[in-house]
Amino acid sequence: MSDFQNAADYFGCNVFNEKVMRDRLPKNIYKSVMRTKQFGIALNDEVADVVANAMKDWAIEKGATHFTHWFQPMTGITAEKHDAFMTPVEDGNVIQEFSGKELVKGEPDASSFPSGGLRATFEARGYTAWDPTSNAFVKEDTLCIPTAFCSYTGEILDKKTPLLRSMEIVSEQALRILRLFGNTTATRVTTTVGPEQEYFLIDKKYYDQRKDLMLTGRTLFGAMAPKGQELEDHYFGNIKQRVLDFMKDLDRELWKLGIYAKTEHNEVAPGQHELAPVFTTSNIAADHNQLTMELMKKIAQKHGLYCLLHEKPFDGVNGSGKHNNWSISSNDGQNLLDPGDTPMKNLQFITFLCAFVKAVDEYAPLLRISAASAGNDHRLGANEAPPAVISIFLGDELQNILDAIEYGKPVKENSDKIFEIGIDALPNFPKDSTDRNRTSPLAFTGNKFEFRMLGSADSISCTNVMMNTTFAQVLCEFADELEKADDFKKSLKTLLKRTITNHKRVIFNGNGYSQEWLEEAEKRGLPNLVSTVDALPHYIDKPYVEMFEKFKVYTKAEITSRMEIHLDNYSKIINIEANTMIYMAKKQIAPAAMEYSKFICDSLISKKNTGLDSSLEEKIARKISGLNTELYNAIENLEASRNAAKEREGNIQDLARYYRDVVLTDMQKLRKIADELEMNVPEKLWPIPTYTDLLFTV
Ligand code: ADP
Ligand code: MG
Repeated sequence: MSDFQNAADYFGCNVFNEKVMRDRLPKNIYKSVMRTKQFGIALNDEVADVVANAMKDWAIEKGATHFTHWFQPMTGITAEKHDAFMTPVEDGNVIQEFSGKELVKGEPDASSFPSGGLRATFEARGYTAWDPTSNAFVKEDTLCIPTAFCSYTGEILDKKTPLLRSMEIVSEQALRILRLFGNTTATRVTTTVGPEQEYFLIDKKYYDQRKDLMLTGRTLFGAMAPKGQELEDHYFGNIKQRVLDFMKDLDRELWKLGIYAKTEHNEVAPGQHELAPVFTTSNIAADHNQLTMELMKKIAQKHGLYCLLHEKPFDGVNGSGKHNNWSISSNDGQNLLDPGDTPMKNLQFITFLCAFVKAVDEYAPLLRISAASAGNDHRLGANEAPPAVISIFLGDELQNILDAIEYGKPVKENSDKIFEIGIDALPNFPKDSTDRNRTSPLAFTGNKFEFRMLGSADSISCTNVMMNTTFAQVLCEFADELEKADDFKKSLKTLLKRTITNHKRVIFNGNGYSQEWLEEAEKRGLPNLVSTVDALPHYIDKPYVEMFEKFKVYTKAEITSRMEIHLDNYSKIINIEANTMIYMAKKQIAPAAMEYSKFICDSLISKKNTGLDSSLEEKIARKISGLNTELYNAIENLEASRNAAKEREGNIQDLARYYRDVVLTDMQKLRKIADELEMNVPEKLWPIPTYTDLLFTV
């Protein structure tokens, strides 16, 4: 316990952070590194050698024997290739070495990482390059160096590089706006993120008995437990001791890595929990979220638990998401999405807010794409997560202000005082928006936006690339217009009014889960890209490609490759799920039903022989045998549709569509019958753990 209380003593103890660098590096070297961190100025070889050496000594003291360039390829998880610090020397001995070159650049074999069409077109080999803005750390016995991953011809092959680029352009464009408001002090603007992470914990011994969980991360079969989440007795409820122990252990390990895990609580579904970190710079938040997911999995196992990060592990209970809380701040200490205390500050806030609204309206499909995955398709629009339509919740106070700007009418301040709104005078509005609409995909929550569509297993990088780039694009348009203006305030007024009029359709303050909203959204012309397969092809819509190329976030080839990787992945996932279902149905479920059938038939015969009434046995035998025949037909049907998918393999979009429309539907048919069988076969004959076992035994 004392260990836990003294968190400050060991927070960040496994991180090569600024304090460690200040202590261990010569002053001039330390300064060079700080310059690199802040302004991206490359380190020269000598400096890199000194830094690498200090890093190695520090890591060895922490027990490290190896180092790795830690990167985030398109698989969505992190990759590491461990090299020992050891270098052989002449007399047969070894010395422990780590050079500046090894720190700055690495060469993993890139050919096995997904690269879409890029590998065919360009050189396959790639290299990793140190990202000095994210600190190196020791994990287990390895010094991990956060890196970006590119091909030798410069194509990006990872999730970090575009995120770093998108942060750069937000900074450039936001500074232009700040200058127009007379700010001369800020020199850098940073996007910040606090991703709340949902997950399930189940007993490891049950996990080990479920092929579907092991191979696909979700249950492909399973009748509803007699109890679900209807009593809402789990949400923020007492945390069970075993889970508490896990959470404490997790917090401790995260803190050692300098990850500010702050809140841990139960979520809505039984067995579901959430971890919220304190927000930090976007790229570090992305690195930290990857590490958090990795540690959740590892530490759960130590406690005899298994951590499920899939978006929809169980049918009929809520799935898991990741809330991406996003904001921007300048290095002179302002949160640019924080309504200010003075009218001028307010006006600056309204300008950033309107830019955000416009960005979301114009580029909604890109945000939708960033949350698109086979797993998340089960969640979006299912009354537990926002629908696939992107809209923004602003709340009443802000809505009043925008209305006032649009129509030039007075607003009520603090519900009694009438405030004449003009561009020189905006009322003060409450800073904390207490009206928490939980059904909106994108909600303003006081000084940040919370994007709630993202799936729990996804990297947060893509979402933030989209938010940053589209926001920067609109800030750029605003700045282009306003910098030319003779009368700044007048032009701003015109710009804001026009922006609100043209883009208010994306604002919706009502219940996002309702059917009426979907109808209303359609009337407003908002895109409703229901599934991953609908969303992904929009990646390469012309205006998006132009925007990404203009800001050098992605080239057309890079975006196309991303689309292809994701579509291909979608098909592969459903194929694996179908295979797993066929396996389980044939080798576990059907045999169990047959065994029961045999048992019933045996007892039927003996009853008949003794002249007892056997009508009940007959009834059960008919039911089980009938269901099992149906099951077998459904298996064969699924096998046929899965095999037919092979014929479509040439066309990536066509194939994904086929998996969604045909294979998924056949999977659902099979599941329905199997789940009914489960309700009719004795517990002791049922071959796999039930939903009650999985959800209520931790
Ligand atoms: P909730 O009601 O959703 O739990 P909180 O205010 O506790 O709301 O914040 C949730 C998340 O938002 C936390 O991870 C927090 O660190 C993050 N957050 C707060 N301020 C910012 C900010 N300026 N930028 C990005 N994320 C933020
Ligand atoms: Mg939240």
